[in-house]
Amino acid sequence: MNQPLKLGVIGDPIAHSKSPIMHAAALRERGIAGDYSALHVKPDRLEDTIRTMREEGYRGLNVTIPHKEHVMQYLDELAEDARRIGAVNTIVNEAGRLIGRNTDGIGYVRSLKEEAAAELTGRRIVVLGAGGAARGIIYALAAEKPNRITLLNRTPERAQALAAEWSDLADIAALPSSRTAEALQDADLVINTTSVGMHPNMEDVPLDIELLKGTEIVSDLIYNPLETRLLRSARQKGCRVHGGLGMFVYQGAYAFEYWTGASAPVDAMRSAVLANMKL
Ligand code: NAP
Repeated sequence: MNQPLKLGVIGDPIAHSKSPIMHAAALRERGIAGDYSALHVKPDRLEDTIRTMREEGYRGLNVTIPHKEHVMQYLDELAEDARRIGAVNTIVNEAGRLIGRNTDGIGYVRSLKEEAAAELTGRRIVVLGAGGAARGIIYALAAEKPNRITLLNRTPERAQALAAEWSDLADIAALPSSRTAEALQDADLVINTTSVGMHPNMEDVPLDIELLKGTEIVSDLIYNPLETRLLRSARQKGCRVHGGLGMFVYQGAYAFEYWTGASAPVDAMRSAVLANMKL
């Protein structure tokens, strides 16, 4: 009989993580024996933790703040997306070889396509923010062959650097915030990847809502609250809206699929997270 799968998530802090609840539900739903634990790992214990993962035969780990970049040096191989994004959120142990992957971006795009925009090819996309989460989703969006991706960020140099780094992937341009109205004029899809509007600053919005005149879809990576003020206002203006919970669920779904080879029970995973958030 197969040994129960050893899985977990490493981060600092980690107590707030919904990943253990979500993956426990997935394992249960698929009838797979396994244990997914939350491991509180301080930065100075990261290398030892990865060694322990090998010694104790963990099949996989999720990696969260602040280890997504630093963990890369302790792995045997990086998938192309993780290497170019510069961050790993999922480790898969393939017979002792630790492979680093990034499922944040592809998780986001799978959620967006299933919940709000079946087709992204040819779309004009505006991304607000140029931080870690933006890197993952822009990389994955570029693979969908959009018409163009326009980046707007409080610190414009960061957006410019990202647009230059990935100019081979898609038509990506960075504009200063002073040109927000111009960027939004004919956008099909606006995505907030900044932390503006996140709990507890839930009344903040990352842009002037009035500028969303012709936008078809507005998406926000934030999932606490489940509907940000940006999304609420966009919905009232007639836009289709897409919240951040799906990204969280689908990044976990991809990880689960890599580890188990089984399709992820996304509805059960989402329900488990939602039930926990309501506690
Ligand atoms: P990060 O690397 O720290 O980047 C934060 C981004 O927000 C930067 O572009 C920053 O601009 C911008 N920003 C922060 N405060 C701002 C303000 N007051 N005004 C304007 N811009 C501001 O963080 P991250 O890891 O990318 O996370 C960003 C958001 O995505 C968070 O809300 C996080 O919860 C969410 N997220 C969701 C998921 C999910 O599964 N749904 C996964 C990952 C992240 P500067 O460059 O100018 O500092």
